[in-house]
Amino acid sequence: MFDGIGDTIRVSLTEDPVEEVPVAIEFARLIDKVRAQKAVAQIDEGLDFYSYNRRKCGEVEINGVKVGADSVPSVAVFGGEDEHAEFSFDTLNRCGDFYFAKCQEPCDLEDALKHAKVVAAEIEADKLIDFSGIIRNAPRGSVVLVPSAPTGGRHSVGEARMLVAKAKKLHLDCPVMLKFDDSKSLIPNADEASKLTEASIYLGSLFTDGIGDIASLEISKSPKRNAELALAILQGARARKSKAEYIACPSCGRTLYNIQETAAKIKARTSHLKGLTIGIMGCIVNGPGEMSDADFGYVGGAPGKINLYKNKQCVEINIPQEEAIEHLIDLIKASGRWVEPDEK
Ligand code: SF4
Repeated sequence: MFDGIGDTIRVSLTEDPVEEVPVAIEFARLIDKVRAQKAVAQIDEGLDFYSYNRRKCGEVEINGVKVGADSVPSVAVFGGEDEHAEFSFDTLNRCGDFYFAKCQEPCDLEDALKHAKVVAAEIEADKLIDFSGIIRNAPRGSVVLVPSAPTGGRHSVGEARMLVAKAKKLHLDCPVMLKFDDSKSLIPNADEASKLTEASIYLGSLFTDGIGDIASLEISKSPKRNAELALAILQGARARKSKAEYIACPSCGRTLYNIQETAAKIKARTSHLKGLTIGIMGCIVNGPGEMSDADFGYVGGAPGKINLYKNKQCVEINIPQEEAIEHLIDLIKASGRWVEPDEK
């Protein structure tokens, strides 16, 4: 979308179809804003954004957590702490472990490096060359790059791509933190839902390009909510799985049960099963084909009757709908994929 590709937006949600319209309108509104910008990033630094390639970078250790290289992306929060996030800048800044610095001039980075073991340095792509000597001379693993707000006529995704392109050209292999906050928003004073859409486009586009080692959002006042939303975006981009994944159909005239209600009940019982994929499909006409990647499937077989699938195989048919969720849980348990939810 930010690349200017696409003419029609189709949003598919497991909700009443009218709920799909505001989401599509929000996307269209954002595209209009992007169009108003002068130019998108011109990438000529030998990076391939046409297929998934996790960007190669060095490893940084922050407060005992490894970041970069082959590690799954971490989550950082500002304004407090949360158990879902690996890093709280407020806490780590106090003990000199991890410091966030907006670096306009090279001396800003030099100062920050005097005060912290690792500095998350927000630097404009076009100025990176001015910082390259300091980064190379700093202790290895002491700098994480943070793309800045749009500069040079680029939008925020283009700015981040350009920063990693310049880093490659300058042989800087620092990990990258993707931070979405008001400075990257196209809509001044946007509400939280709108900011979440923008944050999803920003982080989602870049993580699916293979760029990003730490995710951080500042769209809510609550660090807990920011951390949960960052994890949800990482899950959507398939960069990090922190809960179960669902492939649910949007429902149509063929749907054989109330799919929204059932999907909510299945999620409430299974969302803690990290790494598991469950298909929730309204009918057997298209359902089994559309959820062929799922580990388990819950599919409408006939009015009031459910068929259960394991991998691509139908293993139970015509279960009365009111008993089917328990059968699904039993099937997951019998397959050795169940763990009890953590009461905390
Ligand atoms: S899986 Fe079946 S019920 Fe669901 S949208 Fe497709 S055709 Fe309709």
